[in-house]
Amino acid sequence: MINILNSSNTQTNLIYLRSAYSTFVSNSIDTLEHIFYFLLVYLIVCLTLYKILFTTRPYHLILKKLVKHVKFPKHNRILLVISHPDDECMFFGPTILTLTSRENCEFYILCLSNGNFEKQGKKRRNELWESCTALGISESNIILINATLLPDDPNIEWKVEAVAKLILNTVESLDIDGIITFDRDGISQHPNHCAIYYATASLCLANLLPKDCKIYTLDSINVIRKYISVFDLLCTFLLSTNWFILSWQSGSIVRSAMKKHKSQMKWFRWLYIYFSRYMYINSLREINLSDVELEMQLQDSLLINSFKL
Ligand SMILES: [Zn+2]
Repeated sequence: MINILNSSNTQTNLIYLRSAYSTFVSNSIDTLEHIFYFLLVYLIVCLTLYKILFTTRPYHLILKKLVKHVKFPKHNRILLVISHPDDECMFFGPTILTLTSRENCEFYILCLSNGNFEKQGKKRRNELWESCTALGISESNIILINATLLPDDPNIEWKVEAVAKLILNTVESLDIDGIITFDRDGISQHPNHCAIYYATASLCLANLLPKDCKIYTLDSINVIRKYISVFDLLCTFLLSTNWFILSWQSGSIVRSAMKKHKSQMKWFRWLYIYFSRYMYINSLREINLSDVELEMQLQDSLLINSFKL
């Protein structure tokens, strides 16, 4: 009698497990189907938007008024601050190419090291000049710092005070009204990139920058968005306030600028220049005092109290 009952219980359990398994499989297929359709719609929307942005057809011109490939306030004298030769085209290509072609906009670049990590500083200096020229920056507007305090080395922390001093001197001497640089995560989390953000933020906190000088930081994005090229378009429109978007043709100028950095063109860089979103799209955020205060509250190392220039 007990054996019959046990066998009946086992059968009931098996039926229950089979039913749960088939429900799980059917739900998973449904979910995958939904994900597939969502991605398909997303890709189509991105391609359509991209086509609208760079078309000259009359019926698209009305739509073009709704979506613009450049959304960034006017500035007369802009300073881009980077850490290494090649940062300019790896990350800021769309920004540079657009702003250097703007009327009445003088564009300067301040590179804080000569990229001597692999003892190729001299070569990389020349590559920076070639790349900047390809992107439309005048040779006289390129400033390269070669200081022992600021070596190209991810293992050495750059002193925020030293970086801030250099930025402030350049801003004041060139009468800059817009600074563009990395955000807190420095796109690739490179400590030399992040140091520039903290230096600029310190200047903002200490209220040392000229009143009309705005600060913009390049958005660091997650790794999926980073490598989907122009398909990041919709996310950029939905999540950003300032952006520069390049057509495929203009993107080729950034790609050729990147190729000027011959010493850096390892095999994975070739993949980068075709798949990275930063070769076609830049989104920037204006940071102000309250933003910086909020971010700095999250950081234990608030440097402003001991900051003396
Ligand atoms: Zn770098």
